[in-house]
Amino acid sequence: MQFATRAIHIGQEPNLKEGGSGDVVVPIHMATTFARKEVESPPQGYEYSRTGNPTRHALELALSSLENAAYGLAFASGLAAIDSVMKLLRHGDGVIACDDLYGGTRRLFEMISKNFGVSFSYADLSMPETLSNLISRRTKMIWIETPTNPLLKLCDIRKIAACAKAQNPDALVVVDNTFASPYFQKPLSLGADISLHNSTKYLGGHSDAVGGAVITNRGEVYQQLKFIQNAAGAVPSPFDCWLTLRGIKTLALRMEKHGKNAREIAQWLERHPHVARVVYPELQSHPQYELAKKQMTGFSGIISFDLKGGLDDAKQFLSSLRIFSLAESLGGVESLIEHPARMTHASLTTALRTQLGISDALIRMSVGIEDVEDLIRDLKQALDTIKL
Ligand SMILES: *Cc1c(COP(=O)(O)O)cnc(C)c1O
Repeated sequence: MQFATRAIHIGQEPNLKEGGSGDVVVPIHMATTFARKEVESPPQGYEYSRTGNPTRHALELALSSLENAAYGLAFASGLAAIDSVMKLLRHGDGVIACDDLYGGTRRLFEMISKNFGVSFSYADLSMPETLSNLISRRTKMIWIETPTNPLLKLCDIRKIAACAKAQNPDALVVVDNTFASPYFQKPLSLGADISLHNSTKYLGGHSDAVGGAVITNRGEVYQQLKFIQNAAGAVPSPFDCWLTLRGIKTLALRMEKHGKNAREIAQWLERHPHVARVVYPELQSHPQYELAKKQMTGFSGIISFDLKGGLDDAKQFLSSLRIFSLAESLGGVESLIEHPARMTHASLTTALRTQLGISDALIRMSVGIEDVEDLIRDLKQALDTIKL
């Protein structure tokens, strides 16, 4: 089956067995506990909803199928998924992570995981050579995001995985695949061990359910994570699982439209006199345009750009928009826009922001699936309010 068919059918077949109701949509199983006939025989494999739940199970099957993988696990949020993956590590283990990490991930690593004796080093892994200098016997995990947030830097997953495997076969390569979604990028097929998602963004796609996902082909990693999922308990509610499943059904359609709208807007912005720089992997001006074409089959709705001017111009522009909502998060059907230096990345030190290239004139948008003419008209009128 191809992608869009799998997204609609895997894990979601109507139950036509004796006594099954034949629902064409997976029901929301709210039960917290499941009865059995006798002490020895658990019923359909379900005992207690933290351990396993039929709606979550359907979502987990669908998640694995999106990346042609053997296993999927759903968590209560993207960070719950990341925290669960961190729990694979032991005191003394080392992690090498890309320096342009999602702020919440960096906070988790620095403020929580570190306290358990895991050490972190950060590097610009968009240059894979960096990795071979850093990797050691202690390294148990390589953590990358590609494209990164907000500057859409890419890491060469194939090169990083090959380098990691050659120098330390014990190190797991984890890719936070949130920005690309499984529709445009399949890290496991490029050599990664774990593909991780914040399903709050593109997978759910409607800004109405927080969630996270882990996808892997490694049986022993799956078994450990399934144990952690139950033992530590960061599971999503059946209703959130159902909303995420409903979102996944239209993932292929939405990603096509996000990508098409974003491409048009990125090209339009590049020609606008108030805009100093546009970052979008499908633009030839993107420094890793060739890698983007090789590693991804398309690009999502995230565009970052620098205005000519400073903080006041950025504020003026952002408060003049009518269709784009000024909000954090991304990946929903509605267009959102934000100011990384004052919003999503405000917790970073000014020095680190400067080092990463996050200026006061940087804007990040998540282009939705509205009519692109309306979006461009909105951007135009807001840019026109800035006096150069
Ligand atoms: C939003 C986000 C997360 C965190 O997910 P939550 O569901 O908000 O916990 C992790 N990684 C990336 C790349 C994100 O954009």
